[in-house]
Amino acid sequence: MIHGKTPAEWRQSHPLLRELMSLHPCAWFNPSVAPASDASAASEADRPTSASASERLRRFAPYVRRAFPETEPSGGIIESPLRAAPALKQALAAHYGMALPGQLWLKADSQLPISGSIKARGGIYEVLKHAEDLALAEGLLQSGSDYALLDGAEARALFGRRKIAVGSTGNLGLSIGIMAAKLGFQATVHMSADARRWKKDTLREHGVTVAEYASDYSAAVAQGREQAKNDPTCHFVDDENSIHLFLGYAVAAERLKVQFAEAGVRVDAEHPLFVHLPCGVGGGPGGVAFGLKLAFGDDVHCLFAEPTHSPCMLLGVLTGLHDQVSVQDFGIDNRTAADGLAVGRPSGFVGRAMQRLVDGYYTVDDDELFRLLALAEREEGLRLEPSALAGAPGIARVLGESQGYRQRMGLDKDRMARATHLIWATGGGMVPEAEMESYLRLGRALLG
Ligand SMILES: *Cc1c(COP(=O)(O)O)cnc(C)c1O
Repeated sequence: MIHGKTPAEWRQSHPLLRELMSLHPCAWFNPSVAPASDASAASEADRPTSASASERLRRFAPYVRRAFPETEPSGGIIESPLRAAPALKQALAAHYGMALPGQLWLKADSQLPISGSIKARGGIYEVLKHAEDLALAEGLLQSGSDYALLDGAEARALFGRRKIAVGSTGNLGLSIGIMAAKLGFQATVHMSADARRWKKDTLREHGVTVAEYASDYSAAVAQGREQAKNDPTCHFVDDENSIHLFLGYAVAAERLKVQFAEAGVRVDAEHPLFVHLPCGVGGGPGGVAFGLKLAFGDDVHCLFAEPTHSPCMLLGVLTGLHDQVSVQDFGIDNRTAADGLAVGRPSGFVGRAMQRLVDGYYTVDDDELFRLLALAEREEGLRLEPSALAGAPGIARVLGESQGYRQRMGLDKDRMARATHLIWATGGGMVPEAEMESYLRLGRALLG
């Protein structure tokens, strides 16, 4: 029995589970998408909002600029480039053997400063928020202070008496660990078995304590949470439940809106925007999608992409069980080379908050991620980690769907021809050269 029903009953009530359990790439387009105004309503209910997160990041810019000189060109604002990907679009059309009307763009979070992945948004934001709370409480900062003073001995002494901990498959640990250690906190990262060796080594080089577990992400998080619970000096960054992480991610949307405007790309009802977001526990894509709905309203369509072996968000939303269900409950093993997405149980908070604001979900198998990784390098010179490619098939999945999604949403042929598809390329900037070469070799071999 699985949650009160036999596997046969589940397959009967949710026919898509058959495909999900047999690990075939599949897609599910949400039949009950709500208007974006639901997101504004939610944001008014939730204080603090993403606007206050954005202001907080501006206050910290003088510190970030000083502590991480690579952020000098952007004045201490941590942001990634937006770029067109016409060559990749053409290659995808050939690869999938179909016409792909519309434009293809790419948001290169792989090039985010400090930690080279989408986690440099939410993860770093939460550490900064915590540091600000402490510094204000201790009188080190007042309103109007120049936050550059946090790069000083007094601040480091204050933070040095405090701990920050997090459970991670790798990239969140890198962001939290590097930022926390830079401020002077005692940082511990609880890492799941999927975490790459080099990510652990990098953290140790930064003076971060790495606790290793033979189990998956959910178990590493549970361990970390347990250890932190009994220590009042320890702040645990809770990837499954944190509103701060979520809001840190959400800030991406207002930045993207400016970038699209500068690039002369229109987004409106006649020029819909499709954003393809790789999804692990859900905080990153959920937060970005939340921000996107506030920034672009009903003109943006968000889709979440997961590995065939770790489709936790799709499973949680489809069954309505959210964090009560894990992929393992349905016999799915949560083993994937996309280590950033190797999550078996989704965030219940994100699933419940976002389920009616996400247009659809699809799964991608690992071999395909590697093929796309090699294609993106060949066509656009991009160096991405496997997780970052999960959204790359999205344009073809949306244009090829036969579930009545486009029709239901009024996305007719003309609108699709004017549409923009955005691949959120979530990471890869810190992958060591030798590791990247082995990814590329595998991808090229699979492409044949
Ligand atoms: C963490 C991560 C994601 C997904 O973010 P979640 O918050 O876990 O859903 C996607 N891509 C990369 C590279 C990541 O590290």
